[in-house]
Amino acid sequence: MKIYGQKDVNKKALKGARIAVLGYGSQGRAHALNLKDSGHDVIVGVRKGGASWTKAKRDGLKVAEPAAAVIDAELIAFLVPDLAQKALYESVKDGLKKGATLLFAHGFNVHFKQIKPRKDLDVVLIAPKGPGDLVRRQYQQGRGVPCLLAVQQAASGGRKAFDKALAYAHGIGGTRGGVLTTTFAEETETDLFGEQAVLCGGATELVVKGFETLVEAGYQPEVAYYECLHELKLIVDLLHEGGITKMHQFISDTAKYGDLTRGPRVVNKATKKEMKKILTEIQDGKFARQWIAENKTGNKKYRKLLQADLAHPIEKVGVKLRARMPWLEQN
Ligand code: NDP
Ligand code: MG
Repeated sequence: MKIYGQKDVNKKALKGARIAVLGYGSQGRAHALNLKDSGHDVIVGVRKGGASWTKAKRDGLKVAEPAAAVIDAELIAFLVPDLAQKALYESVKDGLKKGATLLFAHGFNVHFKQIKPRKDLDVVLIAPKGPGDLVRRQYQQGRGVPCLLAVQQAASGGRKAFDKALAYAHGIGGTRGGVLTTTFAEETETDLFGEQAVLCGGATELVVKGFETLVEAGYQPEVAYYECLHELKLIVDLLHEGGITKMHQFISDTAKYGDLTRGPRVVNKATKKEMKKILTEIQDGKFARQWIAENKTGNKKYRKLLQADLAHPIEKVGVKLRARMPWLEQN
């Protein structure tokens, strides 16, 4: 797999081009500031009166309402929450320049056809593999978070859409970390799967069930919290830095033996079968339809589930214990 770097960038692709960054949250702020520091002409498009408006102004950026921000833009980055992008696209689409480029940081709306871009537009994806504050911080330190790149629609012909996407990735620091190519389908489906089965859904559920098992067996909630939640970071850091190999180098023989003999009993064939089912629901659009419908009907079920998660006893113990570890606040 080719990893694109700084030398692969066609510097002319976005030269002199106005870039409109719609949204000034996690990704929007990082992209806008990095692009500006890379010498691009950036305008931020956000709602007047919203918190972002004041923030972007204070950071020294040009700011306008989204419909005004896109008028002279050659490239428009959609960096508002995924479920807000469809309405935003509808509200700005008539003002988009002919032949402009739409850029997304996640393929959800294009892949699931919530946004059907005009045929004259280029449609590309640059998805940084990290949260916005990391994208900004690494850039300021002369490094960059790796990005995925995809081209969904290349109305301008040839390599132009690809070149513009790569030049954008370069502007936010992505070519320092390396840019890998993918498709909107692959990025969207793997991103959803990862967060559902492993990262957010899988990992937190594992932590909570472990905590419950210990507490129900009569152990102190505080001790259960340290064992099942707090110490997860040590393991994740080792995995992140050096994979399973590094984790094995740093844990005890007893931990390793327990891992090898008990791990597959906790996450077993039934778990993998369920993972495959979850993946199928992503691929056939069931998950997207459900989530879009939930949004349209006021997020009642979503809010109820979220409340239940936040009301779990592990959260009460956590607040108390974390208050005594002030260094945790630094991040
Ligand atoms: P945020 O939730 O941080 O976006 C907040 C911004 O969107 C604010 O500027 C807010 O403006 C604006 N906004 C919120 N709701 C609306 C609305 N209804 N209409 C118009 N503007 C609105 O988004 P993220 O940065 O998390 O996500 C942006 C994109 O990047 C998504 O596609 C996401 O999937 C993708 N992505 C996110 C990553 C992350 O780590 N967060 C990682 C990789 C990709 P105001 O202040 O006016 O409310
Ligand atoms: Mg959960």
